[in-house]
Amino acid sequence: MNPFSYFSTGDPVEALAHADAGARFVAGGTNLIDLMKEFVMRPQALTDVNGLPFADISAADNGGLLLGATARNAATAYHPLVREAYPLLTAAILAGASPQIRNMASNGGNLLQRTRCYYFYDIGTPCNKREPGSGCSAIGGLTRQHAILGASPHCIATHPSDMCVALAALEAVVQVRSSSGERRIAFTDFHRLPEDRPEFDSTLMPGELITHIELPPAAQFAAHSCYLKLRDRASYAFALVSVAAMLDIGDDGMVREARIVLGSVAHKPWRVPQAEALLAGHAPDAARFTMAADALLEGAQGQGGNEFKITLARRAIVGALHRAVQGTHDNTSSEEENERDRSD
Ligand code: SF4
Repeated sequence: MNPFSYFSTGDPVEALAHADAGARFVAGGTNLIDLMKEFVMRPQALTDVNGLPFADISAADNGGLLLGATARNAATAYHPLVREAYPLLTAAILAGASPQIRNMASNGGNLLQRTRCYYFYDIGTPCNKREPGSGCSAIGGLTRQHAILGASPHCIATHPSDMCVALAALEAVVQVRSSSGERRIAFTDFHRLPEDRPEFDSTLMPGELITHIELPPAAQFAAHSCYLKLRDRASYAFALVSVAAMLDIGDDGMVREARIVLGSVAHKPWRVPQAEALLAGHAPDAARFTMAADALLEGAQGQGGNEFKITLARRAIVGALHRAVQGTHDNTSSEEENERDRSD
């Protein structure tokens, strides 16, 4: 690990001034510190934001919820207001990482975690995301976890977060602050596709700090949502494909509104409004779900070792929508169910 300076403060103004001077923010450190140990990232200065007043989870005036950026992932997943009104988010968070990591990882940090592309972590190989202009070792290499949608000739990495897939479906908004003011970023605009600048994962600007994540009211979806995660092992593994599915089903049994977001298939959570529109006004049946899956996967392209993800994703979308109709919120492992039981 390279030498670095460390500064901790409870004052947002002071934290932002340090960022303007080149410091990186750190909260849980569950990804950044790993990357520093492996020499993938080499910040000269860290500003610890754990003391800032952004750890609350509270009801918003519009009936939604405000998640503090430094609130822990576990605290968020188990918060009564989240469990009651946003079971999709609880399921997605609990599908990720391990209990120990979720106890440490922050909400803001979850949004900013880096890809788990093997070559990104291996500083002995070229990687445009780590070293712009050096090349992409994944193209023609091991691609089991890589993108089938939205990739570029410069990078085929995927975003690894489970939480972010649910946040995209919930149409969350990211509140950020810098020394020059505040702004709000729609979640679908927060992460970006690699294009010819894969070194940038998000649209966050240097010196900007995530302070909160807004969740709009979503009561109409609470009874019919599902986070389905498919992975190589039952726990503590990143998704090969994941699906956040939300259905608003009327008293007549017809779908009023649908939201479907794919995870681990692109550089950002993947959402196609035209695919969702195919379900609105129709009975929630297998034929419609397959049409929506095909529309969501239009243009999907394998990269050798991940060709299987196209078929897997199609089946996962249909399966997640069926589970959403039934009101099955997740496919979490028995370990996680036990953990939830212990917390009740
Ligand atoms: Fe680097 Fe992206 Fe290529 Fe992986 S896919 S080696 S992160 S440029």
